[in-house]
Amino acid sequence: MDIARMVKEGSLDPVEFIQKVLIEVEQIDKDYNYMNELCKEQAIAQAREIQKQVNDKTAKGKLLGVPVSVKDCICVKGVQSRAGSAILNGYHPVFDATVIANLKKEGAIIIGKTAQDEFGFGGFSINVGKGFKVPKNPVDPQRATGGSSGGAAGLTKRLSLPHLAVSESTGGSIVNPASFCGAAGLCPTYGLVSRYGLIDYANSLDKIGPITKTIEESAFALDIMRGFDPKDSTSLDIKLDLSPRKDGVKGMKIGVLTDSFSEDVEPEVQKAITQAIELLKSKGATVEQIALPKTAEFGVAAYYILAMAEASTNLAKLSGMRYGSTTPLDIQFNDYFARTRSRFFGEEAKRRIMLGTFARMAGFRDAYYMRAATVRKSIIDEFKAMFKKVDVIVSPAMPIRAPKIDDIEKLSPAQHYLMDILTVGPNLAGLPHASVPIRSTDNLPVGFMAVADHFNEKTIIAVCKEVEAR
Ligand code: GLN
Repeated sequence: MDIARMVKEGSLDPVEFIQKVLIEVEQIDKDYNYMNELCKEQAIAQAREIQKQVNDKTAKGKLLGVPVSVKDCICVKGVQSRAGSAILNGYHPVFDATVIANLKKEGAIIIGKTAQDEFGFGGFSINVGKGFKVPKNPVDPQRATGGSSGGAAGLTKRLSLPHLAVSESTGGSIVNPASFCGAAGLCPTYGLVSRYGLIDYANSLDKIGPITKTIEESAFALDIMRGFDPKDSTSLDIKLDLSPRKDGVKGMKIGVLTDSFSEDVEPEVQKAITQAIELLKSKGATVEQIALPKTAEFGVAAYYILAMAEASTNLAKLSGMRYGSTTPLDIQFNDYFARTRSRFFGEEAKRRIMLGTFARMAGFRDAYYMRAATVRKSIIDEFKAMFKKVDVIVSPAMPIRAPKIDDIEKLSPAQHYLMDILTVGPNLAGLPHASVPIRSTDNLPVGFMAVADHFNEKTIIAVCKEVEAR
């Protein structure tokens, strides 16, 4: 990044620069609610340290002085990290998540924690925890940012200065808000970025990835964020080349998901996608229509059963004993546990704990959890078979553009879940996917999503680069 070069050369003062960034972030936050926590003192202390290294001529790092915001569910040492939940009020991790350590090693400066749906439970960032504010869309504040990483995407779009947002996706939380806010989001292959230090939503689905203004910046950031980590048993030890593809999309076989043009997809979104596909053709890609019938029919149901089952076990540790909020220990433990959780969890978290616990209870486990796991396997097979025929699958990230916050409140939980129809597939299969803003007829952003086979991030990046609106 240019910032890193300028800081190293001494033409940009990292302390002054970070102060400028913090002022702008604070100003934006007043109107848009993107930050759950701002860590000004730590950020300035980090910048001073960098300044010292510059003076000593020992400064190095690909992200020297680059401001980084972190989704609230990723632990940053000494900075309150709550995953957007009141039950974690007061929790200050004593360690950095591996991804944060990797970024700091390259000189990145952490500026704070971004707003999200409580524990990632949502697609609009309106399911915020008790006492948290709903973030607003950077293009039209009456509308939602998408979710669950609403603060990350909103801040990325709104901030005029360069910055990187560290985000996380379980079922679409990187590409969904990127699409609604007009940012680029890249969700890597499962296991590429360490999950150590992530306040998990659903371990078999969670991936950490970047949100930035352009796909190129996301690719650059991912290269620094990833890497084998012995502290995460699902972390992958592989080499991966993320350098730009020489021929762009020339000769690439692109499968356009027929569901992109179903009646549930807003006409404006269809138009924008059609234009982007024409652009890809003109650059030498071959395009065919494809369908993933199993994913389309069973993806949402399988995803929500598995995600909620895992979430309900993950949240069991938040009992008021070890982390965050507590209440006086003046009653029997079971009552204490229930009282603390009733008081501090939000409505959607409670709903998911109940549904998830039900899905894995003795007597129901085979009918729900095990069946969903089998369906997941067949969805993975469906994608794998498709990637024998095409290099990349494209569609909108979301069937609609950012809706008005008031309108979302009228939807039922099931209607909320159905909005994830296009994003749950690649997430269930652990496939890399990205969304970039493309040209549309008015100001409201449309996100174009590309999905590739495992470890083919490079293909996605090439496609996204071609269609991205500049
Ligand atoms: N909207 C999905 C859900 O509510 C995905 C959220 C996420 O990826 N964290 O589960």
